[in-house]
Amino acid sequence: MIQAPPSPKKARNGLQSPCPPTRSESARGWQHALREAFTRPSDLLAYLELDPTLPVLDFERLRDFPLRVPRGFAARMRKGDPFDPLFVQVWPSAREAEPAPGFVRDAVGDIDAALGDGVLHKYQGRALLITTGACAVHCRYCFRRHFPYSESLAARAHWQPALERLGADDSISEAILSGGDPLSLSDERLGELFEGLAGIRHLRRLRIHTRQPVVLPERVDAGLLQILRAVPMDKVMVLHANHAQELDEHVARACRDLRESGWMLLNQSVLLRGVNDSTADLRSLHERLFGLGVLPYYLHLVDRVEGTAHHEVAEHRARQLMKELSSSSPGYLVPRLAREVPGEPAKSWLSW
Ligand SMILES: *Cc1c(COP(=O)(O)O)cnc(C)c1O
Ligand code: SF4
Repeated sequence: MIQAPPSPKKARNGLQSPCPPTRSESARGWQHALREAFTRPSDLLAYLELDPTLPVLDFERLRDFPLRVPRGFAARMRKGDPFDPLFVQVWPSAREAEPAPGFVRDAVGDIDAALGDGVLHKYQGRALLITTGACAVHCRYCFRRHFPYSESLAARAHWQPALERLGADDSISEAILSGGDPLSLSDERLGELFEGLAGIRHLRRLRIHTRQPVVLPERVDAGLLQILRAVPMDKVMVLHANHAQELDEHVARACRDLRESGWMLLNQSVLLRGVNDSTADLRSLHERLFGLGVLPYYLHLVDRVEGTAHHEVAEHRARQLMKELSSSSPGYLVPRLAREVPGEPAKSWLSW
């Protein structure tokens, strides 16, 4: 296994600059912040004062899964540091084009399952709705990068096919909204969906998997909070942060507002080489999350999809990290190590 180059972040920990103001952006709304996101590699490099010749993915591949980084997220990166743990997650490195045996296009076997009404019903009691393909940030390690859709599947016909499927099966007690990122949808679309779900008697819980409160905290605004608060079911939101440096004061504000609206907050992370593959990084992530009222839930191994091999942490290393973590953390700050296995009835949890 190739080791990631030593990262300068270690030496500079604690010297992070306070996050710059994004007040003007939040005043103009989250859609504006989305439109202003970095989409050209050269712009991001210039902003971060990085070497403009840093090897970038070829144009063809980049077109399939472009760079996308909200400015507020880029503002949390250290300038001049190509090993910054946030930058590494979003930079379309030329290494994505390197062939890697075992890394395929649909590593989790979800594409076929999702092409109907957008409902994935793999696990007992829970049904997952693919609500939209859109995300505020493009994480280079993401298994959804090869999904053959960009617009909503379940959202067609005002959610009717999906709602009918959920309504017809009373073994389903939890609806899980996934994507893409469900909070990419407008308040109106979400409100429509929540209303439909609330009308299904046997649904007791609503869960949303989203990275937006972390990468675009502007999204958690008064309008969204109002419709989130109105959901009459038990409410769980699973956030996605991989490094403590992602969690600035704007994210803290979003988490506070979400909790005050009655949502329980959990977090899932992906174990990424050079980002969070040390006990110290994982521990500080979990402690920071706990400070925001968020409990760690999953730590995922990278799904083996094309273009992500250079982000992968070997399974034996993952188990070793979990062992160290669990002996030095309270039990409630130790996530489950998980890997998706195509065709298996449940995510597999790895023991260590
Ligand atoms: C992960 C996942 C779930 C949720 O599993 P939990 O163990 O409840 O977190 C549900 N449906 C699908 C398709 C999933 O991949
Ligand atoms: S936000 Fe989630 S779904 Fe979207 S690219 Fe990142 S990991 Fe993938």
